[in-house]
Amino acid sequence: MRVLVIGSGGREHALCWAIAASPLLAKLWCAPGNPGTAAVAENLPIGEMDFAALVGFAVANKVDLVVPGPEAPLVGGITDAMEAAGIACCGPSMAAAQLEGSKTFTKEIADAAGIPTAKWERFEDAESAREFVRRRGAPIVVKADGLAAGKGVVVAATEDEALTAIDSIMEGLAFGEAGAAVVIEECLVGEEVSLFALCDGTSAVLLGSAQDHKRVGDGDIGPNTGGMGAFAPVPSFPAAVEQAALDRIIRPALVAMAARGTPFRGVLYAGLMLTEDGPKLIEFNVRFGDPECQILLLRLRSDLLPALQAACDGELENFALRWFDTAAVAVVMAASGYPEAPQRGGEIKGLERAAAVPDVQVFHAGTEQDAEGRIRAIGGRVLTVCATAATLQQARDRAYAAVDLIDWPTGFCRRDVGWRALPNRAKAPPPR
Ligand code: AMP
Repeated sequence: MRVLVIGSGGREHALCWAIAASPLLAKLWCAPGNPGTAAVAENLPIGEMDFAALVGFAVANKVDLVVPGPEAPLVGGITDAMEAAGIACCGPSMAAAQLEGSKTFTKEIADAAGIPTAKWERFEDAESAREFVRRRGAPIVVKADGLAAGKGVVVAATEDEALTAIDSIMEGLAFGEAGAAVVIEECLVGEEVSLFALCDGTSAVLLGSAQDHKRVGDGDIGPNTGGMGAFAPVPSFPAAVEQAALDRIIRPALVAMAARGTPFRGVLYAGLMLTEDGPKLIEFNVRFGDPECQILLLRLRSDLLPALQAACDGELENFALRWFDTAAVAVVMAASGYPEAPQRGGEIKGLERAAAVPDVQVFHAGTEQDAEGRIRAIGGRVLTVCATAATLQQARDRAYAAVDLIDWPTGFCRRDVGWRALPNRAKAPPPR
């Protein structure tokens, strides 16, 4: 098979890494890719939103399957553009990708399908939103309705905080058009997990679950980020509950999506809150999480490529994936100043040493190779250092052993990835 992966992050490096291992693969490209993907695929100088160039390349080079990693091209309609040119693309159509593009749409699907989720209301004018908050009181959750790169959500502990959030989203337009409407929700309490399924429009196959760390600082403090680390499996989300969530949340969503004429194909990611009343849906995303993808794929024993093809072909029913019985940990290394103002340009050394630690994979994201062959940081999240082992503790120790072999003075990471799942819930950083 001739395969084109779209994107340039750690998720896409992991996708390339997994696809490159397939005996079915004849040729792999990644657009635009990064220095990590260059080791397993041929990078193309085409941006992820340059649909004309991506489709043109796929047609001219007889690509059999396109695998978009990030949400932006999916929400923008890359799958429709590829399919119109006769190219299979493992992702939702633009209409189905609204599950990520619009909070209101997600909530409507959840209500139509009877999926357990927080009670909600949508407001297009700020005064009614404020009035609602005053009536309901805090804690309460305020969300920009559209895509805001995971940042348009305020979990307000006080009424004042919620009112300020409404002002900045709707009147300050802190998130541009995404904030033209807000969704205000009941605040759910519990531990969060992410559940992933590969879907073909009617059937869903479990891809596993993971817990991530969204805050930038140890102990889950500081601003929200794209994700600073993740681990799997999640002890507080045992297999039976995971399976029940697949049946009560993912499968009904597929039925509702098909019923409205927008069947969902691709990776469906359900963000869940494990409440006292069982798992409740917080949000859907229409692609793998980053860095969750990296550890899910490290645990995958089966060949990923035929599964992606089967999702496109509507043939996932009876498809079984096999998994390694290991724990996996991902530690994201980011540039100092991330998420507000990441410091660019720092040289990163020791990557080969780190990757040589047994059962460790280092995935690239915001890196660049300069003319002298040196690797430099050019983004916020720069590397995902991943490890697998028999236990979570061992996987974490291995990942940090690899992190400590990376020589990058202007980089940092959280030192407590996995703390919620470790016996003493140790917040203390592991010894250096
Ligand atoms: P979202 O973009 O909808 O995933 O929200 C981002 C984050 O806000 C989630 O990962 C949760 O931590 C938090 N959050 C969103 N909705 C709720 C809710 N209804 N109750 C409590 N926390 C929430």
